[in-house]
Order: sequence, then structure tokens, then C-alpha cells
Amino acid sequence: MKREVMVIGGGVVGCLTAMALTRQGIKVTVVDRGVLGAEASWAGGGILFPLLPWDYSETVNELALAGAAIYPLLAEELITTTGIDPEYTVCGMRVLSHFDAAVAQQWCTTHGVSAEFQDDSLWLPQVAQVRNPRLIQALRQWLEIHGVILKEHTQITTLQTQSNRVRTLQTSEGESLSADRYVITAGAWSKPLLGTYALESDLRPMRGQMLLYKLPIGTLQHILYSDDFYLIPRRDGHILAGSTVEDVGYDKSTTPQAAADLQRKAIRLLPALASCNPIAHWSGLRPGSPDNKPIIAKHPVLENLWLNTGHFRYGVTMATASAQMLLQQMLASSG
Ligand SMILES: Cc1cc2nc3c(=O)[nH]c(=O)nc-3n(C[C@H](O)[C@H](O)[C@H](O)COP(=O)(O)OP(=O)(O)OC[C@H]3O[C@@H](n4cnc5c(N)ncnc54)[C@H](O)[C@@H]3O)c2cc1C
Repeated sequence: MKREVMVIGGGVVGCLTAMALTRQGIKVTVVDRGVLGAEASWAGGGILFPLLPWDYSETVNELALAGAAIYPLLAEELITTTGIDPEYTVCGMRVLSHFDAAVAQQWCTTHGVSAEFQDDSLWLPQVAQVRNPRLIQALRQWLEIHGVILKEHTQITTLQTQSNRVRTLQTSEGESLSADRYVITAGAWSKPLLGTYALESDLRPMRGQMLLYKLPIGTLQHILYSDDFYLIPRRDGHILAGSTVEDVGYDKSTTPQAAADLQRKAIRLLPALASCNPIAHWSGLRPGSPDNKPIIAKHPVLENLWLNTGHFRYGVTMATASAQMLLQQMLASSG
């Protein structure tokens, strides 16, 4: 497949899709209406694990575990090629409350995930994380080094079609862009971008708010999780506290109520946080999908269009494996 591919949306899913295609010698352009990776992929926590995997389907877990397994090599390659360290760290995660121990144990055994039950908590030593902004910086550099065209500040407004194919993409500046094949990786904006071609897909933005703290390095060394809330320690002492899951459309504002709620939960989990205030508060729009199942497929009507979107709460974790899946489908297709 030596055809030119245009990837629409330069979040982690778009960047990793572009990377997979480029490795096959395919000429790739990534188009983003802002700058690469400034939306959900920047805002996320970077935990490389479904929080309570036994609550999800095998489809979700297979993709998440496969995605997480690719990260050590990816991180190594990014460091070697770009000099930027995405801070892939196997820090482990302690799950503190409200899980069914028997179900959790069974799931971990079946999936070969190490787990130790200690008092009332579950210790998962293999859980890893990446630092999202660093990952994006490294991916961006990798793409540039490998000759991928990055077309930023370019919003695609319409897909112009003819005989069941995308013919051109119209931009908000009135430009027409074309390639042989197109991949939509526009995250929470994929559905409006597809317009009537979204067909039955049930994708919607789901806002997540996060707080950032700074404590002395090493105060917290692993991820702490309790009741759909987590603390993630970065290597330099920053601690992320998140996150909300809110169905509020395309509203990306942050709210004082969420800040207060996240702060209360953060202090309960790590009392040392009571002595300092959060240094940042942000939100991002996750690409929500039913049961957290992304769409990684050729479009059912438009023969030269593919979709890689709807990764919801685990897009960073899944993106590596999801890009591989999409690549296999594209290589096998004559469209
Ligand atoms: C608070 C929070 C915490 C999270 N924590 C985790 C976690 O710990 N682990 C994990 O695995 N996942 C986590 N996630 C989820 C993860 O961040 C997302 O699933 C993932 O980033 C989705 O990536 P994406 O590339 O599909 O979307 P995005 O990163 O949103 O990228 C989509 C891109 O498309 C561009 N775009 C949109 N419309 C157009 C258009 N018309 N024309 C051109 N470009 C367009 C946008 O500008 C954007 O750059 C979290 C998310 C949030 C918000």
C-alpha cells in the first residue's frame, strides 16, 4: 500500500496511527485544527491500565493490555530517536476500596496480571504510566524526523464525497486537501466531523477535570486509586488528582465544584496534600463511546475512509495497539 494517507486529528491516536503508517513507507499528512496533542491527549492522566479492568468487556481489556505492552519499546525508541523521554514508568497501582476481591483475583489470574492482596487493598505492581505532554512532544518529533507532514491550525469542516469515496476535505480557510486514503482520529469531535456519515455511531464528548499538585519528589511513589478517583505521581514530584466524568457536551470549562470535590478526595487519599494548594486545574473532552469500545474500522459506506476513534477513558493506553489494528486492516484492504 504505497498510497498517500491523510490523518485527521493529531492527538495520541492520530500520532500513533501516523507512526504505524509511516513505518510501512507510506506518505502521511496529519491535519489538526489546533496544535498536535493539545486536547484530551494532553489533559489525560497517562495511566496505562483500565482502572478496574474486571468491570470492562474482554474487547476493552484485550486492547488495553496489548496497548500497554507496546509502551516499553515505544518509549525506548522515542528516547533514542528524539531525545525526549515520555517518562514511561512502572510505578504500580494500589486499589484501596470498593472492589470485589474474588472477582479481581480471578481476573488477574486469568489475564496473567500480578496482584497482591494486602489487608483491604489490592497492589498491582505492573501498572505503568507515561507523562502525556512529554509523550506528545516525543511523538511529534518522531513524526517530523520521519518526514510526516504536520498541518496544524487547519480545521476540516466537510468531507466532500463522490461515488462512495472521500474526494477532498474542505478546511475552514476554504482550502481543499486530498489524499488517496483518510483516517479520522478526531477524538471527541469525530462525530460532528463525519456529519451524516457518522451513521448510527454513538460517540459523545465526556469531560474530565483534573487537579495538579507539587510535593517533594518521592512523597508518593505509586498510583493510588479509590472509588473512581486516583492520584498519579510524576517523577519530579507533581501529583495529578482526577478525574470527573461529565456528560456536558463540548463545554471544556473547569468548575469550582469539581475542584472542591477533587481536592477533598485527594486529601482523604493522601493527607500530605492538605498542606498545599493545587497549582493547576484543567479539563479535557474524552471521546466517549458505549462501553468504552473504540471504533477501529473501515467506514461502512465511504471506501477510502477509516475510523480510529472513541477510545473514551483509555485512549493513551489503547492507542498503540489500536494503531496496529487499523494498519492491518488498511494493508489488507484494496479500497
Ligand atoms: C481527565 C482525563 C484523564 C484521562 N486519563 C487517562 C489515563 O490515565 N489513561 C488513558 O489511557 N487515557 C486517559 N484519558 C483518555 C485519553 O486521554 C483519551 O482517550 C485520548 O487522549 C483520546 O485521544 P484522541 O487522539 O482520540 O483524541 P484527542 O487527544 O482529543 O485528539 C483529537 C484531535 O483532533 C483534532 N480535531 C478535532 N476536530 C478536528 C477537525 N475538524 N479538523 C482537524 N482536527 C480536528 C483536535 O484538535 C485534537 O487534537 C483521560 C482523559 C481525560 C480527559
